[in-house]
Amino acid sequence: MQTRTLKTAKVKVTTKCNRHCDFCIFADGGQGVNMPLATFETVLDRLNRIPFQQLHINGGEPTVHRDFAQLSNLARERFPDHAMVLGTNAVTLARNTRLLDATLTYYDQVLIGCDDEHGNYDEVVATVPVLRAAGKTVVVNSVLEAVDEAQLTRLAEMCQEHGAIHVTNHVHHIDVGQPANALGGLCDRYLDQHLMIEVDGSCYRCFNAMARYDSEFSVWDDDFAERVFAPRTSHYRFCLKCHEYRDSGQQILPAPAVPARTTIAV
Ligand code: SF4
Repeated sequence: MQTRTLKTAKVKVTTKCNRHCDFCIFADGGQGVNMPLATFETVLDRLNRIPFQQLHINGGEPTVHRDFAQLSNLARERFPDHAMVLGTNAVTLARNTRLLDATLTYYDQVLIGCDDEHGNYDEVVATVPVLRAAGKTVVVNSVLEAVDEAQLTRLAEMCQEHGAIHVTNHVHHIDVGQPANALGGLCDRYLDQHLMIEVDGSCYRCFNAMARYDSEFSVWDDDFAERVFAPRTSHYRFCLKCHEYRDSGQQILPAPAVPARTTIAV
């Protein structure tokens, strides 16, 4: 039997953020909430039961969680051989030495959103060289709908100089009035790719799905490990609007194996 491995477990440790990007569906600004440490420890316990490649600490802006350093340490101790990835806007990293030190200590990769919406060009330009000098993999991601051309060039040159990766993207995890998809079979794009874990421990198995509506199970379920790899039998609510829908032609994913034909001797 083929063993399945999850690529990324993404844990949203907070919905608080120090920025107010129009296109963001993942944060609630200053009104957000932090994942309690007890919940985070349960998340780590559950993840310890499944094969996965990388642990991605995300938000909101994860560094504004008051226990950011502590929970990062807990995760690193529990999973010393997994890649630890931080998703951040780098604003606090440029201004707070303690948070930068925690990032340098516990993380292997840092993914940074940087564009007009984030309003963080100067902070990113200040932080990336420090992360790269410490040997971290750094990816800077700019949303093309919200980036100044001159700043885009500045970012690209800075990334090239310091060996960071600069990528551009379109906003896709948002309903901007696009026509609904004609949904056929289930989308196969995110099978075994991203398990999203919300601040309350609820889970869904696609980066694009809508957090509040598409939860499939939670870290409080005793059969969490089975649920992560359980067959998917229905679309997520957001599939209707998702730019990334790719029809697998299947109503169940992964498709049930076709039983081998048995020949009966007569
Ligand atoms: S259509 Fe979009 S939301 Fe639905 S599974 Fe595919 S990538 Fe995820």
